[in-house]
Amino acid sequence: MIYLDNNATTPIDPKVSEKMSQFLKEHFGNPSSLYPIGREVKEIITKARKVIAIALGASRTEIIFTGSGTEADNFALFGVLDAFPEKNEIITSSIEHPAVLETANYLEKKDVKVTYVPVDQYGTIDLDFLKSSITPKTSLISIMHANNELGTIQPIEAISKIAREKGVLLHTDAVQSFGKIDFKVKNLGVDLLSISAHKIYGPKGIGALYIRKGTNIKPFIHGGHQERQIRAGTENTSGIVGFGEAVRLLIEQGKKDKERIEKLAKRLKEGIESKIPKVKFNGHPENRIKGTLNFSFMGLEAEAILLALATKEIYVSTGSACSEDSEEVSHVLQAIGLKPEIARTSIRMSLGRFNTEEDIDTVLRELPEIIEKLREISAIDIDEE
Ligand code: PLP
Repeated sequence: MIYLDNNATTPIDPKVSEKMSQFLKEHFGNPSSLYPIGREVKEIITKARKVIAIALGASRTEIIFTGSGTEADNFALFGVLDAFPEKNEIITSSIEHPAVLETANYLEKKDVKVTYVPVDQYGTIDLDFLKSSITPKTSLISIMHANNELGTIQPIEAISKIAREKGVLLHTDAVQSFGKIDFKVKNLGVDLLSISAHKIYGPKGIGALYIRKGTNIKPFIHGGHQERQIRAGTENTSGIVGFGEAVRLLIEQGKKDKERIEKLAKRLKEGIESKIPKVKFNGHPENRIKGTLNFSFMGLEAEAILLALATKEIYVSTGSACSEDSEEVSHVLQAIGLKPEIARTSIRMSLGRFNTEEDIDTVLRELPEIIEKLREISAIDIDEE
């Protein structure tokens, strides 16, 4: 199998699953319990929290565990709006993940004014538009760090300067950038930042929200005293252990992984561009997560390419994993100005830690053949486009 859908999810690293299964065998205590078997688990959670805080350049108390990246995003938006009842305006972008976009849509129905900042042809947001959208009633700006479909990286530091000048809080969805871009929360200048374990070779169903100390935010899940009383519920202890180990591995080998992935992706990109006619690369040429490659293959349906590749056990995506089964054309590709008929021809390949040189060789052998065959039987005349 050749797995090229690492932006959808990553395979769990064997060291992570090992650590989790050992934990599950040895510990069942509730971290809120005061006797030793509870205390031990509490300490283990604290260690994982510390590792994640170190990786982000944050302090331990600034990390709140959530049930997913999606929950972290929801927490940021709802939590801030709840804290500022008199400021019911937020600003986001047109290319956010549904975790933010659908939440913003929902909030609009609850009388929150949402401004969606447009992007250019590469998927970079319009900073002037953003700046001019801020009003005295704006409580939060939420702009993703790196886009899941294109890999394009947003100028979060510049947005942070604008947000600070205007006294507006800044959240970034760093689910795709964490582990792929070297950053620290202080340098980005954000108040809130979302991450998720299953994008970094950790388990599914565990994420975290970084909340800068002193940030005014209301509790998101009400109940017990867990997570500083702002995200109640008995902790996903084994998930947290796995998350901590995944982040420890990032600290240990993230730089080496990144260099290797970038080299492989460069070879794959250049190979596709030289071997396949009528392809269009989508995303920023430089300012992007290099392991994410999005191509339009003129004249073809992306699903047909995806299925043909799947018969060779090569797995890619037609865009965001969450919209895979919907008929909708990717909102991201539309936002960068692709016509729906071009957007429908687009495939995303996202590389990860476990991809090899042989994977790239195989794809560069199989893909041109598949495209050629599909174009032979395709009814669409690509020269017309
Ligand atoms: N934000 C971005 C940019 C993502 O790519 C994803 C996952 O696809 C999420 C949020 C949601 O994370 P999770 O799957 O942990 O809910």
